Amino acid sequence: AESHKASREDLGPRQVRGALFTWVRPETQKDPELLAVSPSAMRDLGLALSETETDEFKETVVGNKIHGWDSDTLSGPGYPWAQCYGGFQFGDWAGQLGDGRAISLFESTNPSTGVRYEVQLKGAGITPYSRFADGKAVLRSSIREFVVSEALNALGIPTTRALAISLLPHSKVRRERIEPGAIVVRFAQSWLRCGTFDLLRARGDRTLIRRLATYVAEDAFGGWETLPGRLDDPDGPSQTPTPQRKVPKDTLQGPPGAEENRFARLYRDIVRRNALIVAKWQAYGFMNGVLNTDNTSIFGLSMDFGPFAFMDNFDPAYTPNHDDYLLRYSYRNQPTIIWWNLVRLGEALGELIGAGPDVDAPTFTASGVTEESAPPLIARAEKLINQAGEEYKSVFLAEYKRLLTLRLGLKSQPPTDFDTLFSPLLDTLEALSLDFHLFFRRLSTLPISAISTPSSRLEHAARFFYSGEDPPADADTTGDDRRQRIADWLAAWRERVVQDWGSSSSSSSSDGTTVSDEADAERMAAMKRVNPNFVPRGWILDEVIRRVEKDGERDVLKRVLHLSLHPFEDSWAGK
Ligand code: AMP
Ligand code: MG
Ligand code: MG
Repeated sequence: AESHKASREDLGPRQVRGALFTWVRPETQKDPELLAVSPSAMRDLGLALSETETDEFKETVVGNKIHGWDSDTLSGPGYPWAQCYGGFQFGDWAGQLGDGRAISLFESTNPSTGVRYEVQLKGAGITPYSRFADGKAVLRSSIREFVVSEALNALGIPTTRALAISLLPHSKVRRERIEPGAIVVRFAQSWLRCGTFDLLRARGDRTLIRRLATYVAEDAFGGWETLPGRLDDPDGPSQTPTPQRKVPKDTLQGPPGAEENRFARLYRDIVRRNALIVAKWQAYGFMNGVLNTDNTSIFGLSMDFGPFAFMDNFDPAYTPNHDDYLLRYSYRNQPTIIWWNLVRLGEALGELIGAGPDVDAPTFTASGVTEESAPPLIARAEKLINQAGEEYKSVFLAEYKRLLTLRLGLKSQPPTDFDTLFSPLLDTLEALSLDFHLFFRRLSTLPISAISTPSSRLEHAARFFYSGEDPPADADTTGDDRRQRIADWLAAWRERVVQDWGSSSSSSSSDGTTVSDEADAERMAAMKRVNPNFVPRGWILDEVIRRVEKDGERDVLKRVLHLSLHPFEDSWAGK
């Protein structure tokens, strides 16, 4: 086993050709302390909570024990590995990057759901891809990643997950200051990124691009037949897509997709997955902060949590990344930048998606692209990427609209809502510097009967300005014109609620001008199920980190994890 141990000498930074992973062994950790485990993650992996008490669990989550590998006989079905990928960082090709500090342990299928995950450690030591860094992770960023992974999942936003976090008491990690080290166990259905394909494109490894694309379709996504059908046949040739992926026919653009082969359908599926995820980030005010192509998931997951943030006061130009002075990764740019990344992916797949129906022709695979075949191939690839761009926009807008409709407690989706409801709301939040999450949550508890007159709307507008739990009814420190602006928006919103929830069975409201108390209670309950009472904001995580790191507290991390796992509940578990 010693000979497998990572050391500077045999695992220094190096280019790895012809492969996308390397076998690698985590470092041995002394006296690790298990700080927290996500019960939700245990459940999704199909593990019993009681297992977290065992020594085997505690040793496995820091890499001291390798599940599926016998260190005495040097044999077993599994051995840890590190993935290899590259990426465009802030728009520039950065070459081969990682994984410099993530080591995958094994794949595990939950027997009751059938979902398979790749389980890995972050911060368990250097790999051949560590370049000049130390392969470690500090406690501070590990707490952030651990909490946000589970918070996003609880909000219904697809993400890589976090199972456990352990403190390494003897690890001193040199950053701007010396910090304690930690290991997070994370898992995902796929850790492949756009940057995985970028690297193969940079290497010119056409064979491996094809193999990887085939692996994604057949293995990660569950088969070619699950992919969207031709552009003129959105339901696909043989199988009905899952509801999540289904897009209304009229949102599909472009001429009949006769030239579209199965790799083009794969590309479109990846595009659609990413359109869905970025729509969810926008609707929930989440910012990744570093959307380089190596941090953009092929599977359509939120991934790589560095300087991420949830929106506080609504500011579309906000970026949580202090180095991002061009605001490339600001909130409002996220949809554009994910598309930029997907165009790079389209280029990496260009030879396959542009090949037309002849993608399997032996001459094509054996001897490459001839001078005659290159121009039509490039033209076809460009056309398909542009069509996929239209599809990206459609899928993004449909999902964004669906989510805002839900968050505002509405049922129907008239096309006018964008101009008369969504945009005025976001403009108002921005102009008045109102808190994004509190606004939706407080709207969720506002009875429609309380805002039927202009003066009552003005009065209730006050609730959106206070940060405490219950705004005092008589307090007015906000200025009349600011309240008036909210009151005006409430009038428009009220009309739409009445339209969607006004009941014709109730005697007085057959004209749809009022909502019965029962219907309104239902509307408020539905809104509370989609508008979180808790998101792990930056300042909350800062306090948790300070208390764990400096004050030696432990419960505070578990409490914040609990709140993150139950974001829609009313009660707060206290400080
Ligand atoms: P990121 O900015 O988090 O996307 O990281 C970019 C690349 O740098 C990733 O491939 C990481 O694996 C690698 N990396 C970041 N920090 C370290 C570290 N402390 N040790 C080794 N590799 C690292
Ligand atoms: Mg990264
Ligand atoms: Mg990172």
